[in-house]
Amino acid sequence: MNRKSNSCYSRRGEPLTVYDSDFQAQEGADYANRAYDNNLAPYKCEKCGLWHLSPQDRQTPSTTCPICMDGNGYHKALYRSKAAAEKRVAILRKEEGVRLGIYRCPYHDGWHLTKK
Ligand SMILES: [Zn+2]
Ligand SMILES: [Zn+2]
Repeated sequence: MNRKSNSCYSRRGEPLTVYDSDFQAQEGADYANRAYDNNLAPYKCEKCGLWHLSPQDRQTPSTTCPICMDGNGYHKALYRSKAAAEKRVAILRKEEGVRLGIYRCPYHDGWHLTKK
């Protein structure tokens, strides 16, 4: 039932489980949290455009912007606060070595990441 990513890996080098939608990811999180006493929450991946789970303390609250698209044709994650976008930038820099900037979404109340 769980699909593994072929582009995204955990810090331990294991492929991450991918979900096609935030609804499916939330179901996966609910199941894992019940079954394994985890504290996982879904997030939209900047890299593959699909959804993974991560521990809640690493969460940077975001939704999906209905207007803005990234270079792969996926809708961009919309971070509700500048602090959340900055936290995500810091995590990606540390874990994946990518340098991203942030900018305010021109259409919605929130922030996007952008490749410099
Ligand atoms: Zn991914
Ligand atoms: Zn936007």
